[in-house]
Amino acid sequence: MKRWNGWGDKKVIYPISKHAERFIRKKIGIGFKSRGVDKAFLLSKVSKPKIKEFPFSVDDKFDRLIHSFGQSFPDWLKFKTGLEFNVPDLVCYPQNEDDLKVIVDEAKKRNVNLIPYGGGTSVVGHLEVVDGAKPNISVDMSKMSGLVNIDEYSNIALIKAGTKGPEIEKTLNAKGYTLGHFPQSFEFSTLGGWVVTRSSGQFSLGYGKIEDMFLGGTLYSPNGVFHVKPYNRSAEGVDLREIVLGSEGRIGIVSKCYMKVSKLPNILNVEAAFFPDNESGIEAVRFISQSSIPLTMVRLSLSKETEGILNLASKRLFVGLLENAVKLKGYSENKCLMVYAVAGESKQVNFYKSFIKSVIKKYGGLNIGAFIGKQWLKDRFKMPYLRNTLWDMGYGVDTLETFTTWDNVKNLAKKIEKALKGAFAFSHLSHIYPNGSSIYTTYIFPLEKDKYDTFKKWNSLKSRASETIVENGGVISHHHGIGVDHKTYLRQVKGDLSLKAMKSSFDAFDPYGIMNPKKLVD
Ligand SMILES: Cc1cc2nc3c(=O)[nH]c(=O)nc-3n(C[C@H](O)[C@H](O)[C@H](O)COP(=O)(O)OP(=O)(O)OC[C@H]3O[C@@H](n4cnc5c(N)ncnc54)[C@H](O)[C@@H]3O)c2cc1C
Repeated sequence: MKRWNGWGDKKVIYPISKHAERFIRKKIGIGFKSRGVDKAFLLSKVSKPKIKEFPFSVDDKFDRLIHSFGQSFPDWLKFKTGLEFNVPDLVCYPQNEDDLKVIVDEAKKRNVNLIPYGGGTSVVGHLEVVDGAKPNISVDMSKMSGLVNIDEYSNIALIKAGTKGPEIEKTLNAKGYTLGHFPQSFEFSTLGGWVVTRSSGQFSLGYGKIEDMFLGGTLYSPNGVFHVKPYNRSAEGVDLREIVLGSEGRIGIVSKCYMKVSKLPNILNVEAAFFPDNESGIEAVRFISQSSIPLTMVRLSLSKETEGILNLASKRLFVGLLENAVKLKGYSENKCLMVYAVAGESKQVNFYKSFIKSVIKKYGGLNIGAFIGKQWLKDRFKMPYLRNTLWDMGYGVDTLETFTTWDNVKNLAKKIEKALKGAFAFSHLSHIYPNGSSIYTTYIFPLEKDKYDTFKKWNSLKSRASETIVENGGVISHHHGIGVDHKTYLRQVKGDLSLKAMKSSFDAFDPYGIMNPKKLVD
C-alpha cells in the first residue's frame, strides 16, 4: 500500500549504515529531527467543500487531503509539517470514457476546475490547488486502467491512461512485449501522467523518451473529444500530439494512448565501469551517444555522486574492498562510475559489450563486471525510499534536472552543484543524445526547526540552482515538467511569444479556463 505522507510502498524501508550517517553529517552537519504532524492535525486543516455533489465523486476528508499533494519538496513540507495547503473540494473516480465526458461537461456547465490525478508523483507542484476562488475537483484516473488491445503486427498497444508502470509491463511482458519506460517513480506513476509531463525512463537510450513512444490517443477537453490515430510521421501541418505531450492537465484529460511497444529482449545485461575523472567519463558517454550502436542504458555518476553512492551503499564491506582495489589501479576520489545496459539476442549483446568495453578502454576506464550492475538493476526503484530515511534523520532531499549541449555539460553540472552551496549536491548523466545530455542533480540539506525556515532554505537553494540553469543555457526541465515550481523560469527561458503561443493553443481546447488552472502558464 502507498504511503500517504512519504514516498512509496509502506512495506519498503531503506535503512542506512552508521558509516553513511557519519558521511552525511560530515558533509552538511546535523539537521533537525522533526516529530512531524499527524493525520488528525492535517485533517483538522481540511476546509469545508465548496460544492457538495459532483458526478462519480466521493466527499471524504482523507481522500481530499491525499489528492492535494504530489511529491515536490513543498508537498513534503505540507504533509510532514503542516505547511499551509489547499485541498480539492471533491475527488471523482471516472470508470470509462462516458464518465469522463459527463465530468468535463458538468465542470464546464458549473464553472468548476478539474485537476487530473494520475499517480500523484509529480515533483514540481502539478497537483496543487491554486485557484481557490472556484470549486476544484480532483479527477482520479486509477479506475481507468489496463491494456485495451495490442496490434502485434504493427507493435502498437492501446493502453488506458490511468495504468501504472507495473501493470503496463506485466500485461505487455505476458505477450512478449515491453513499453521500455522505467522512470524511478515506475511503481506508482501512470501512462497519462508520463505523457503530459514528457517523462523519461531509465532505458531512454534504448527505447526513447515517452514522446518517442506516444503514437496517438484520446483526450477529453472542455471543447470536445480530441482523437489522434496512431502514426509515426506525417506532413499534416503542425503535429498536434505535441500539444498533448507536456500539456500538464491544462487542455483536458487523456483517456487512452497508442504506444509503440518493443519485443522483450532475451538478454538484459547490466555492468559497470570506473573512469578516472569527470572529463574522461563525459568524453566516453558523448562518444557512445554519437555512435550508432543501440545500447539500452548509460548512466554516468559524476565524481560527487560516485562518492555518495559508494558511501551510502548498504553493502559496505564489498564497497570497501572494491574501493581499495580501484585505488591500487590508480583511481583517486575524482573517479566516476558508469552503469550500462545492453539488451537483445546473445550475439548482439556480445557485440555491444565488446564495443562498450573498447570505449571504456579508449577513455582510460576500468570495467568492473556485473556485480554493481546487478545490484543497480535489483534496487533501481529503491533509491527514492532513502528520502523517507533521511527525513527521519533530519535531512531534506530534492532533485532537479536540465538538458544542455555536450560543449556545456561539464561546465553546467559544476555550476549547478556550486549554486547548491550548503547542501550536499551531486549529479549524473542518464539521458544522453548525440548532441547533448540531461544533467540530474540531487541535493540533501539539513532541516530547520521551524517549517518556514526550512521552506526558505529550500526555496533559496532551488532558486539559485534554477537561475544558474537559465543563465547558463540549460532547459528548465528535461523530464519533470513545469507545474508551479518552474513557471517563472519558463518565462525567462522561452520568452513571451512562446508562452502566448502555448496559452492560445490551450485556449482552443479549454476557453473556459477550468483545466488545471495556473499550472505551466497563466
Ligand atoms: C521518487 C520519484 C522518482 C521520479 N522519477 C522520475 C523519472 O525517473 N522520470 C520522470 O520522467 N519523472 C520522474 N518523477 C516525476 C513523476 O513521476 C513524473 O512527472 C510522472 O510522469 C508523473 O506521473 P503521475 O501519473 O504520477 O502524474 P501526477 O503526478 O498525478 O500528475 C502530474 C500531472 O499530470 C496531469 N495528469 C495526470 N494524469 C493525466 C491524464 N490522464 N490526463 C491529463 N492530465 C493528467 C496532472 O494533472 C498533473 O498536471 C519521479 C517522481 C518521484 C516522486
